[in-house]
Amino acid sequence: MRMVDLIARKRDGDELTTAEINDFIRGYTADEIPDYQAAALLMAVYLRGMNRRETVDLTLAMAHSGDTLDLHDVAPFIIDKHSSGGVGDKTSLVVLPLVAAVGVPVGKMSGRGLGSSGGTLDKMESFTGWSAALSLAQFRRQLRDIGLVLAGQTRDLAPADGKLYALRDVTATVSNRSLIAASIMSKKLAAGADAIVLDVKTGSGAFMPTVAAAEELAQVMVEIGEDAGRHVVALISDMNQPLGHAVGNALEVREAIDTLRGGGPDDFWEHCRVVAGHMALLAGKAATLEEAEALIAAARADGRGLAKFRELVVAQGGDGRQVDDPDLLPKARFVEPLEARKSGYIAAMDTGELGWVCVRCGGGRLVKSDDIAPGVGFLLPVKIGDYIEAGQEIGQIHAGDEMTLQQAERDIPAAITVSDEPVPPRPLFYATIGGSK
Ligand code: URA
Repeated sequence: MRMVDLIARKRDGDELTTAEINDFIRGYTADEIPDYQAAALLMAVYLRGMNRRETVDLTLAMAHSGDTLDLHDVAPFIIDKHSSGGVGDKTSLVVLPLVAAVGVPVGKMSGRGLGSSGGTLDKMESFTGWSAALSLAQFRRQLRDIGLVLAGQTRDLAPADGKLYALRDVTATVSNRSLIAASIMSKKLAAGADAIVLDVKTGSGAFMPTVAAAEELAQVMVEIGEDAGRHVVALISDMNQPLGHAVGNALEVREAIDTLRGGGPDDFWEHCRVVAGHMALLAGKAATLEEAEALIAAARADGRGLAKFRELVVAQGGDGRQVDDPDLLPKARFVEPLEARKSGYIAAMDTGELGWVCVRCGGGRLVKSDDIAPGVGFLLPVKIGDYIEAGQEIGQIHAGDEMTLQQAERDIPAAITVSDEPVPPRPLFYATIGGSK
């Protein structure tokens, strides 16, 4: 296969064969294909799309680009979750420990920030010393010992996705249905989950802007999972505004800890309860979703979820004292109030742009080699439908320097549309797809 021919074929709208897709994934994983050719192919796929067969082939090639895990010797049933990415989406930090706390082992591979969307690993690295770089032996041991593990993409598991994910992040090729489905499902298949809850976001801060597009993505992923013999349920959830209040790595960790302690924003807790409930239900811990959610709520109320989160932090080298006292987490140099520009009802938010504000403050990466500033970001406790007055404090900016502080002071209000007419609040969820056992 000549890579240049393959790029040209996809550029011209042709269908790639199974062999071509396999060759590309093998060659790129083995460093035989340079980033610039992989980037060109990604852009061609982004613009021309892939059909269902190509998408399944890509997913399977990526899933088999390294080792695949079979964890049944350490846990009888493995449940996993994945979010398609969003702004302020710290759901995993709350959901995983709660699900593990009700006796369902969770072995999860997570990603880093992608485009304007934050990444679970970047958030967890706010803890001093915490590491996602686990060997497969460590992954197994921790799953057996504490029933909860959160690893990064290792060189061993779905390595093709690790490389492609980082490349897509900096080549404007993130929000393509086939590339997202293959990225998410290849990791899930390689990591050996028996059941998977997919949290597919839709709206102005999601890779899928409309409910219909999110449903299509969800359907593809449910089908890929079922073809591979896994139980998959996909929730379509709202990303027309940040989830919860906090956007930015350490700020989101604080909000997750607050939520595990019984506080935290209502929308965020409700979202976590539903996602965790679906996971407990798929794992057979309850007969109905209501019962499953009640189990999850009980594990939060009696502190088992928080204790499990602390175990996760400590097991992977993090400083558990930062869980007990979140004031010890990294902080930004400047913390300034954010004021509303205009009076009226919040009608819409450009949530993707809000995510980029955080990235530009240093909370995400503009190029692959960028370091993350964990303390930066913002708190935005107002929601669509709320009435705000000009000059009212509607949030707080946490910035590392005056330039990004001023940019955020300008850009956050500009991303919020205010109307004179009342606006209904946004629903949290739109649909549930799959779920048959
Ligand atoms: N999450 C992933 O793992 N991959 C994507 O492409 C998007 C979100």
